[in-house]
Amino acid sequence: MIGYRFEPGPTHLLRLEAGEDLYRSVAAYIVEHDVRAASVTFLGAVRRASLRYYNQDEKRYQDFEIAHHLEVVAGVGNVSILDGSPFLHIHAAFADSEGAAYGGHVNVGTEAFAIEVAITQLGGVAPVRQLDETTGLMLWGPPGT
Ligand code: ZN
Repeated sequence: MIGYRFEPGPTHLLRLEAGEDLYRSVAAYIVEHDVRAASVTFLGAVRRASLRYYNQDEKRYQDFEIAHHLEVVAGVGNVSILDGSPFLHIHAAFADSEGAAYGGHVNVGTEAFAIEVAITQLGGVAPVRQLDETTGLMLWGPPGT
């Protein structure tokens, strides 16, 4: 296990406009405001979702789309450093009109209807993502690396 300790910094509340790309808008905000470590939550509704599932056996992402209106039941994520820049990582559960749920790693292409985002910035040395050979994923390295 790798552990980091932070003090909470400022919290940013964002409201996305209808038509904005959920991933691109929040990713642009963190870069613009130099948010290098944070926890992220969001909720609201989207017009369509573009998601990824990580196939653990093949060590590759499988992309899929849900091309209809959905509630965002719960969105969670974090910010750390990848290739020297702030990197947004978000997952979400979505529900349709019957309450059936979908979910996954949120990709570019998820179109907001109305989204509220809370970014809790963390004060301290941001985790840096590096390749983890076991999973094939870019995961947080030990502090100070
Ligand atoms: Zn993910």
